[in-house]
Amino acid sequence: MTTDTAAQAAYVVAALLFILSLAGLSQHKTSRSGVVWGIAGMVVALAATVGLASRSITTTGLVLIAVATAVGAGIGLWRARVVEMTGMPELIAIMHSLVGLAAAFVGWNGYLDVDAELSGSLLAIHHAEVFIGVFIGAVTFTGSVVAYLKLSARINSRPLTLPGKHVLNIGALVAFVGLTAAFVARPGMGLLIAVTVIALALGAHLVASIGGGDMPVVVSMLNSYSGWAAAASGFLLANNLLIVTGALVGSSGAYLSYIMCKAMNRSFISVIAGGFGTPAAAAEEGEQGEHREINAEETAELLGNATSVIITPGYGMAVAQAQYPVAELARKLRERGVEVRFGIHPVAGRLPGHMNVLLAEANVPYDIVLEMDEINDDFAATSVVLVIGANDTVNPAATDNPTSPIAGMPVLHVWESSNVIVFKRSMAAGYAGVQNPLFFRENTQMLFGDAKQRVEDILRGLDALDTPVPAMAGTSR
Ligand code: NDP
Repeated sequence: MTTDTAAQAAYVVAALLFILSLAGLSQHKTSRSGVVWGIAGMVVALAATVGLASRSITTTGLVLIAVATAVGAGIGLWRARVVEMTGMPELIAIMHSLVGLAAAFVGWNGYLDVDAELSGSLLAIHHAEVFIGVFIGAVTFTGSVVAYLKLSARINSRPLTLPGKHVLNIGALVAFVGLTAAFVARPGMGLLIAVTVIALALGAHLVASIGGGDMPVVVSMLNSYSGWAAAASGFLLANNLLIVTGALVGSSGAYLSYIMCKAMNRSFISVIAGGFGTPAAAAEEGEQGEHREINAEETAELLGNATSVIITPGYGMAVAQAQYPVAELARKLRERGVEVRFGIHPVAGRLPGHMNVLLAEANVPYDIVLEMDEINDDFAATSVVLVIGANDTVNPAATDNPTSPIAGMPVLHVWESSNVIVFKRSMAAGYAGVQNPLFFRENTQMLFGDAKQRVEDILRGLDALDTPVPAMAGTSR
């Protein structure tokens, strides 16, 4: 068997491992094995690529590849070990930016180092691949950097609204099409520089124009773009595995974006076009009336007398790392005969499935963790709802204020229950920067403080409820 045949066979194996990985990652129970399949696929792919390259690369080149792989793997391992769960979205965004940057470099390299044997229509196709690869790569690069800055709160998550922003986006796309035709007819560095600059600006503008509430879709959309950027590089490098893997990432990311748009009642086209077609929304600022407060002991008493409780966790539960005491609270209440369930919003937290992962980590049984659609009709018949560090995902403005920036987004109808207790540290707005009228409703009480500490206080309060009060005061000292 020649090196080439062996490498192509290894590529088929790696592609199958990547497909198995995606299948594994689609369910909680199989997600760990999904990660293992992915690692195995990557090892096979790297070994085959280096084996293939070793035929035409000098020893110095191979040493450089080994050093680059060791440095990259070291940085990857270090970041993966130290990243907090709440920091995952920004880590993913910055990783996508590297894929975009690499694709743009591969495109530029394809222009500077053209295979002398290419001519006629094959050369024209090569130039189109270079141009498209640079464009997708550069859009992905700056789009992901802006997403990183927004997700890590280094810049405001509010949408940027430049005058004529849609005209700017459409103008950039039209310019790209025109420049591509010009480049294929007469390739020149000036055209390639022009498309690089336009794509860098377009990527930054598209993501900056999208509001905080729609960031989940943006993250999965950039995931998809990074896949297409990798596939474009695969065409340029004539690497079949890169084409297949890029297409897998591109299409699964696009499908995830579509599912998230459906879950959030958003138009897919509108979000990928930088909020195209969404009316300019007015954010409600400041307090909207009086809010009431409750303390942990009173909450424990309320819970002790409840028949049914729904817990709706959000980003604040992840920040506070409150999942363990929350799981303990659920266990204790169930022991007392209270019906306890969790209501999970599809974009609660900062990652798809973020809350499910945290609750699984704390061993909350799967059968009491329900999706929003499964539980939304049950709030009206529930005694107490505990909103633990959630805000945008329980905001009634999404259903009853058509001018709200989150209007139309499906939310958990927590306000329909008899008592709502909101755990947070202040009256600050949620990620979308929108004030929450829930906090000022008659049946809502705020329990201020760090969610973990407050839940632990409630656990002590519940224990105190169970401790029999001595019938007579004992001897005094
Ligand atoms: P939000 O981000 O809207 O609000 C979280 C709340 O938690 C804040 O109001 C904050 O209030 C409170 N909080 C923070 N730290 C603590 C703490 N230690 N203890 C108690 N409370 C705390 O949360 P949601 O989960 O409801 O909504 C998620 C938002 O993130 C949505 O807008 C979604 O679109 C967006 N998003 C989601 C992604 C995903 O894939 N899931 C990805 C990117 C964005 P305070 O500061 O007063 O304590």
